[in-house]
Order: sequence, then structure tokens, then C-alpha cells
Amino acid sequence: MGAQLIDGKAAAARLRADVAEAAAMLPRKPGLAVVLVGDDAASQVYVASKEKAAAKAGFEGRVHRLPADSSQNAVEEVVRSLGADDAVDGILVQLPLPKGLNEDAVIACIPTEKDVDGLTAASAGQLVLGGEGLVPCTPQGSMLLIRDELPDLSGKTAVVVGRSILVGKPLALLLLEKNATVTVAHSRTKDLGAVCREADVLCVAVGRPELVTKDMIKPGAIVIDVGINRVERGGESKLVGDVAFDEAKEVAGAITPVPGGVGPMTIACLLRNTVVASARRQGVAVPE
Ligand code: NDP
Repeated sequence: MGAQLIDGKAAAARLRADVAEAAAMLPRKPGLAVVLVGDDAASQVYVASKEKAAAKAGFEGRVHRLPADSSQNAVEEVVRSLGADDAVDGILVQLPLPKGLNEDAVIACIPTEKDVDGLTAASAGQLVLGGEGLVPCTPQGSMLLIRDELPDLSGKTAVVVGRSILVGKPLALLLLEKNATVTVAHSRTKDLGAVCREADVLCVAVGRPELVTKDMIKPGAIVIDVGINRVERGGESKLVGDVAFDEAKEVAGAITPVPGGVGPMTIACLLRNTVVASARRQGVAVPE
């Protein structure tokens, strides 16, 4: 029997529709500001799709483009001025910044209540405390997909492979918050296969094409593949995840494809965070 396919595109479309509806109820349109420094090709594509999604959801979106040779001070000044701008509810600094710029110092200029990427130290701290902070978008999107499959994680074993600040660590905390028993594996983990085979919910965020194979998956497990890797296959360029999808779907109970799994949820969750930030700043009830 093959695994059920977790359709991230459809889930993201539903979430975007909910967000657009919530945005329309607010007294003022949510404002999202994206700061893009330099001309990295991948970043341009990501920013363009965020801009488009924000417009479609009825937000006031604006991209602030700065040249690659901008000084640390100039970038921080732009972020600070957006922080002080009342019409801006969410600030996103597109990473990576060009070499020579201190990302942590730029991120630190984002006021916590506008940190829609959930990357500031204060947002991370609130996540640890189980508070009401804005949660990083990719882990949040992964959790929504898991919730659709398995609403109650109590008594379940979750394994997260990868411990990045952006994905692995926050995802582990969110799973813990939902009462899963959580193990975090990484590059120094011994016998990764044995660790992964314990998982009722296996989340992989590593950045190594098809690292997780069929023999590492517990039969019936929910597999969330965060990885996006470009590989050359038969002379063609193709996107694959961190999980060997074709064989994994023979044993998993449910699995996200790449592309079309976690990826679409990331932007939808950015919109969700922005509408939540905006509702809080406008003093109205936060949409569910
Ligand atoms: P990082 O490179 O920051 O982190 C990778 C993690 O994987 C590290 O913790 C590392 O361990 C661990 N790791 C590396 N090799 C192995 C291995 N052989 N076995 C076990 N663990 C290993 O990556 P990110 O978390 O930022 O991203 C991970 C993947 O997710 C990438 O493919 C990225 O493109 C994708 N991504 C997708 C998004 C989406 O929207 N779907 C958004 C963000 C990322 P250690 O800490 O020991 O070095």
C-alpha cells in the first residue's frame, strides 16, 4: 500500500484564503515590508513570490531594495525606519545578506511585534517559553500539515533531523509543545537510521538530497520533508527533498512531496503571521 500524499499546495491555498478573509475584516490593510539587499537570483525569486502572495491576500506590500554594497548602517537604518512606521505590521529581511553584512545585527533591529519571520532572539525566547510570539514560517507550516494528519500528538514519538535555527530547533520545540516525545538528530548523530525508525512523525530538514531512505522509516509514519535540493538527473535539473520519495512512499503512512509539500506552506504562514501581527497592532481580536 502506498502512502497518502500530503498536498501542501492545497493546504496552503486554504490557508491563504483564510488569511485573505481575516485581512479583509481588519480596520486597516496589513502592511508587509520586505528588505532585499543585493541581487542574489534565488532571493529575487523568493521575494517576488512573497510580494505577489501578499498582494493577492489584500495586503499593503512593499519591497525595499538596497544595493549589494550597502553599509551595515544603511541596512540597519532601513529596518529601523520600517520598525517606526505605523503602517508596517511585518518586516522580513530576505536572507542571506551579501557577505560582509552582519545578519544577526540587522535582524536585531526588527521590533518583536513585527518579526513575521520569527527570527529575533525575543521571538525565539517566546517559543522556548511557550508564549505568544510569532513562529518561524517553515516550522509553523510543517506543524499545520502534521495537524491535518494527526491532530493529537500525545504519546507519539517525533524525530527531527536537522537543528538549524530556522527550521530544526523551532520545529522540535513546536512538536514538544504539542506533547510529542521529541528527538533531534544532526550530523553527529550515530546510527541515524535507528533513530529515525523510532518516529511516528519524521521531519527532515537537512539539505542533503535523499538522505533518508525507505529502511529508515517506521511503517505508517508521517514523513515531513523540508529539504529542497537541486540535482542533475539524466541531464535535467530537478528539485528533490531530503527523503528518497519514491521508495519512502512505499512504507510511510503519509508523506509530503518536494516540490508541493512544505514549500508552499512557508509563504502562506508568512501571510498568516503578518495578519496576526497586524490584528495585534490594530488592537482587534487575532483571527484563528
Ligand atoms: P542548515 O544547513 O542550516 O541545517 C542543516 C542541518 O542538518 C544541521 O543541523 C546539520 O547538522 C544537519 N545535517 C547535515 N548533514 C547531516 C547528516 N548527514 N545527517 C544528519 N543531519 C545532518 O539547513 P536549514 O535547516 O536551513 O535547511 C534544511 C533544508 O530545508 C535545506 O534543503 C533547505 O533548502 C530547506 N528549506 C526549505 C524551506 C521550505 O520552505 N520548504 C525553508 C527553509 C529551508 P549540524 O548542526 O550537526 O551541522
